[in-house]
Amino acid sequence: MTLEPVESDVPYHRLYINGEWCDAEGERTFEVTEPASGTLIARVASASTADVDRAVAAARDAFDNGPWPHTPHYERARIIHKIADLIEEHAFDIAELESRDGGVPIRKTTYNDIPLALHMMRVFGDLARRPPYEPMPWNDFPTLSWNFVWRDPFGVCAQIIPWNYAFPMAVWKLGPALATGNTIVFKPSSLAPLSAIRLVQLIDESGLLPRGTLNLVTGPGGEVGEYMVGHPQVDKIAFTGSTEVGRKIMAIAAPHIKKVTLELGGKSPSILLPDADLDKAIDGVLFGMFYHAGQLCEAGTRCFVPATLYDEVVERLVARTRQLRLGDPLELETDIGPLISFKQRERVESYIKLGREEGARLAIGGGRPVGELYERGPYLEPTIFTHVDNRWRIAQEEIFGPVLCVIRYEELGDAISMANDTMYGLAASVWSRDLQAAIEVARRIRSGTVGINEHHVLNPHAPFGGFKESGIGREMGVAGLLEYTEPKHIHVDFQQKRSGKIWWDALLPPENEHE
Ligand code: NAP
Ligand code: MG
Repeated sequence: MTLEPVESDVPYHRLYINGEWCDAEGERTFEVTEPASGTLIARVASASTADVDRAVAAARDAFDNGPWPHTPHYERARIIHKIADLIEEHAFDIAELESRDGGVPIRKTTYNDIPLALHMMRVFGDLARRPPYEPMPWNDFPTLSWNFVWRDPFGVCAQIIPWNYAFPMAVWKLGPALATGNTIVFKPSSLAPLSAIRLVQLIDESGLLPRGTLNLVTGPGGEVGEYMVGHPQVDKIAFTGSTEVGRKIMAIAAPHIKKVTLELGGKSPSILLPDADLDKAIDGVLFGMFYHAGQLCEAGTRCFVPATLYDEVVERLVARTRQLRLGDPLELETDIGPLISFKQRERVESYIKLGREEGARLAIGGGRPVGELYERGPYLEPTIFTHVDNRWRIAQEEIFGPVLCVIRYEELGDAISMANDTMYGLAASVWSRDLQAAIEVARRIRSGTVGINEHHVLNPHAPFGGFKESGIGREMGVAGLLEYTEPKHIHVDFQQKRSGKIWWDALLPPENEHE
């Protein structure tokens, strides 16, 4: 990659530990560049294991001795809404930063990603008002007791997010953990850390959180992230990233029986029923697939089409794809930006080569676009393979780039079986005019989210996560909030008589005892 002349004034972002911004040990840093042009846009501290130790110690102390876990839930709710206000105030700057850092088209960040993240933070603020105790029925065996569940915060949470969808991802990690009174060591991806760092800066400037409640470490996942998750003082791990790294993290968490939630990869289907409204379904499938150049975990990468519609659908998908504008993410007209890195493009290209070898027909794309702009970044044409067999690797493995597989089916049952026949189960969409039929299909799909006549249906009220190897646990919604709590049963005994106590029959009463 060619770097433009280094600007002397690129921002330098430090680690944030125990309420202070500090250099990494040895003042080590790494560079952050814009994928679209290779331009250096920031230098970021690269933490050592000793830095992680300090961050974990700060979070541990803030949890064990600080006020946050005991701050009343309505007060935490108020603070989360204040953080949401800060996001709202800085939304345009954050959108631009996210577009530059992640190569995400600015229309997407401005009108979708950042407003959605704001909405999420507000919903987490509302959910934080939910009291941390839950009623239970009166219990009368063996004696009368009043019972309830207290939801304790989990403790010190190590949170790791990927580079794609970085800002919403940061919000949906920090929001629920804070709402429930946890303390945090947070690591964004080295490939696009800037919007998440911005969020931590805003929170710091506001002075809203007690010292040590939120700590930021940056640096390579294989070192910093891995050390964080294995740290014995960390109680819970919340990771979003690849299934491969997720597996590793589960193994690392095992010796200390840490609580783990994982949001991993996907190979999500879009299923067209024979009565689908194609005017909407064609754009919907393409949106599901090519949004952020296919670099979204729940992207609809496999499109199942009834044989009766196959040729028409392929023709229309191709014609519409031809109209998509590939370009500079900072231009308002751009539909698809570059991939995150040249390495990622190579990976996606290797899958395109594989698809050809496996026998798929390339209907459009497959190459690098030509032109001066495209020389500067890892651009790749939106690509559609047709006549794909669901068993092939291009239909089974997560490519994480703009490659759609169109798969023909004869009977709806076959489509459902094929849709479910992967190791993943993150999301799906079903396209039909008949809502009842679509719901029936949705119920048979083994995935955490199903959109009917829509894809990418992220909703902070709804649990989000994966079946099978797409993950463990849920984020967002009440279910997501509860993942950050330990339920504690509290039993208040109402039996006054000794002879009515649980132990009366187990411990023989002392002699002469009467009741
Ligand atoms: P990745 O390589 O798994 O990295 C994700 C995060 O983990 C990054 O912060 C990374 O740090 C860190 N990391 C890497 N190796 C680690 C290790 N050994 N121990 C601890 N942390 C480690 O994934 P990616 O390539 O960045 O992101 C794409 C993947 O994320 C795709 O598979 C996609 O499906 C998945 N994803 C899932 C969801 C979901 O909600 N299910 C959402 C978005 C993305 P560095 O980048 O700094 O090295
Ligand atoms: Mg990575």
